[in-house]
Amino acid sequence: MSKILVYDLSLAALTEQVVSWGEPAFRAKQIWQGLYRHFYESPEQFSNLPKTLREKMSESLEFGGLEPTLKLDSSDGQTRKMLFRLHDDRQIEAVLMRYDKRRTLCISTQVGCAMGCTFCATGQMGFTRHLSSGEIVAQVLFYARLLAAEGSNVTNVVVMGMGEPFHNYDNTMEAMDRLNDAEGYNFGARRFTISTSGLVPAIRQFASEKRQFNLAVSLHAASNDLRESMMPVNKRYKIEELVQACRDYVAETGRRITFEWALIDGINDSPEVADRLAGLLKGLLCHVNAIPLNPTSGYKGRPTNPQRAQAFKAVLEQAGIPCTIRMRRGIDIQAGCGQLATVASLDVVKN
Ligand code: SAH
Ligand code: SF4
Repeated sequence: MSKILVYDLSLAALTEQVVSWGEPAFRAKQIWQGLYRHFYESPEQFSNLPKTLREKMSESLEFGGLEPTLKLDSSDGQTRKMLFRLHDDRQIEAVLMRYDKRRTLCISTQVGCAMGCTFCATGQMGFTRHLSSGEIVAQVLFYARLLAAEGSNVTNVVVMGMGEPFHNYDNTMEAMDRLNDAEGYNFGARRFTISTSGLVPAIRQFASEKRQFNLAVSLHAASNDLRESMMPVNKRYKIEELVQACRDYVAETGRRITFEWALIDGINDSPEVADRLAGLLKGLLCHVNAIPLNPTSGYKGRPTNPQRAQAFKAVLEQAGIPCTIRMRRGIDIQAGCGQLATVASLDVVKN
């Protein structure tokens, strides 16, 4: 019998498991707190539990799930990327970015991605499989342990690593809910940001479920022709339909939405494009996060230069749309947005 990954279990499921072993239900909560408050990663660490229970835990439950196989630190001194091996030998990546007081994690939800965005390394590698909720949770716990050892903690989590979180909707939401649980890790819902390439039905579902996680939408183009050439998802959900779903999300939740925009030289960075974008987003409670394109092996486009990026921002701001030009982080270790792909990271080691 293969073991169950302990991070795949909700508190209710863990309680059922513990009761099926003939143990009192309150033991489940003790295990829960050991996992999510003390970050225990093996049954032996649960010294508050009877030995017989710890034995049952080791027989039936898997406490690893992610085996770190490679650690890459950026020359900026602030960015670390880890490569993890999963139980089936597939690999994923998760990144820690240290800002002034913030400790932000960028985590993955799939091995690869099915959406095929041309400029993204994960899209270029294709789709292998969804991550389970526990495999998503385990990425956060890995860094929570690392930071706890230095007296620090995770302050923000962005679901912007490998994969399209809304293509793996249920597991992603379960993972976030588990980390949000007040009796466990108690990570504030508003400290999570989920980014989607624009799966309209999932955006509508997310709006109706009223979770407090922040939502970001990867837009990158303001016309269907251009967006379709960069993001195949636009063939299914056109820009007008996507922006309408975003407007409805804001109306329903009262929450601001973030639009992501990779600035690509000569492609989507002209003042005319910025003007068109401003028209599209007029009156919408939003913010545009623009980031000069990060290089990937399978895409020829070049990043916009800083002057041109500032001009793009100025057009939006004149139209009343707040825009930030984001710093590029961890480019040397291919830990920047859209650079996550296990094949690419192994190349870094070889070089
Ligand atoms: N699949 C989700 C989340 C992961 S990608 C999504 O697409 O939204 C995280 C962000 O990085 C997205 O906004 C994505 O469009 C952007 N991105 C992808 N490739 C990039 C690149 N080469 N340079 C800059 N940003 C990129
Ligand atoms: Fe997938 Fe996002 Fe990359 Fe597009 S940008 S291929 S949706 S990970």
